[in-house]
Amino acid sequence: MNTHRNLTLDQIDRMSLLHPVTSIADHDRNGPVIYEAAQGARLRDAAGRELLDMGAGLWCVNVGYGRAELADAGAAALKNLSYQHLFGGASCPDTILLADRLLGLFADRAGAGHFARVFFGTSGSDANDTAFKLVRYYNNLRGRPEKKKIISRSGAYHGLTAASGSLTGIPAYHKAFDLPLDGVLHTACPHHYRFAHEGEDEAAFAARMVADLEALIEREGPDTIAAFIAEPVMGTGGVFLPPADYFARVQQVLDRHDILFVVDEVITGFGRTGQWFGTGTYGLRPDIVSLAKGLTSAYFPMSASMISDRIWQVLADTSDATGAFMHGFTYSGHPVGSAIALANLDLIEREGLVDNAARLAPRLLAALRDRIGDNPFVGDIRGVGLMAGVEFVADRATRKPFREGTAPHRIVSRHAAAQGVLARALPFLPVNAFSPPLSITAAEIDEAADRYARALEAAMPELAGCV
Ligand code: PMP
Repeated sequence: MNTHRNLTLDQIDRMSLLHPVTSIADHDRNGPVIYEAAQGARLRDAAGRELLDMGAGLWCVNVGYGRAELADAGAAALKNLSYQHLFGGASCPDTILLADRLLGLFADRAGAGHFARVFFGTSGSDANDTAFKLVRYYNNLRGRPEKKKIISRSGAYHGLTAASGSLTGIPAYHKAFDLPLDGVLHTACPHHYRFAHEGEDEAAFAARMVADLEALIEREGPDTIAAFIAEPVMGTGGVFLPPADYFARVQQVLDRHDILFVVDEVITGFGRTGQWFGTGTYGLRPDIVSLAKGLTSAYFPMSASMISDRIWQVLADTSDATGAFMHGFTYSGHPVGSAIALANLDLIEREGLVDNAARLAPRLLAALRDRIGDNPFVGDIRGVGLMAGVEFVADRATRKPFREGTAPHRIVSRHAAAQGVLARALPFLPVNAFSPPLSITAAEIDEAADRYARALEAAMPELAGCV
């Protein structure tokens, strides 16, 4: 029975939900924004207003909303085999086929043919928890129990479970929860626009970032460092593109000290960068890759961890001595998620959505630069594929930040919603993110940029108050 049946949804929400990453006080004052339906790149809220979702949800609805093919694939799977686990060697057809397909995609589309096995989970966070445990397991099996620490980066986002939340490098997610856990370290954030010294070019900056990483490794002792984890493009931190040469140099440092490379492709996987995987875009050589979001375009909660030959060989060679691999979840390799993921990959291929992302990437940047590039508070507009960031500064010439405690990007984001476009305000630097469905059209990008420009104009008096 609904105990609140005489109340509105708005009121029931306030009385019954604890929202993730939401201020309880603000929510109590403002209430929820309730969305009721969506199609393509457009959401409809409870008031009947239509909004262009330039976030694709949380960077995840890669094929756009309302795809009947995916709903049909899910419905057929639910009717046929609604659940199957993979524990103790149990299996099911679509999950087997999906694992094989992902290994093939990585070999063909990321130039990474060195992956041997796939492990399935349900979220980006748990994929990174799996990586967190796998690197320990690997070193325990190799007789290197002291080699356990993981290095992440300031500004990184890897999820919010206890382990993945520790890998995340954004203080706001740590401070009230006594995180990070022991054994997780953070090196410098390689975002040239904000963190370069005056006059320091990208190459010199990248060299300094990598020197910082190596200094941290040497300080801690290379024998204590198991892995380095990185997003190819740092998403939630603020859409930070890796400086030229950065990853090639990082890779050399990792090789020198026998450190595994975990690549978090939760955002960048499945076309977001204009190629299938960020691993291919940036020529990375990972040992573990975390995938989620675009794997099913968020039509089902599902993640995958790609495991390289190098790690797999150690697991396989020691298996008789160590016994079972004691890790896994009730929903690892869920048959419905697997069916939806296969249909999603079919759809991405059939409609050429990765090519569409590559084709529209310059359009997205040009549309933003054309309309807001001259605004005195817009410091930087950057992106790759269909992910872009607009970074706000109080002074363009000096890159001076806005006053401490202000949130100009939240003000703009609020005005953007009022103008009918969703552009997320990120939690680390004052950046609005754009990551529309890969199925978006050029006309929709222009329309979103027009609306966003009107929002920025409307926000100017409030922004001036934040200087
Ligand atoms: N890694 C990255 C790079 C992400 O962007 C996210 C989610 N935004 C995660 C991990 C965590 O994924 P989830 O929220 O599904 O746990």
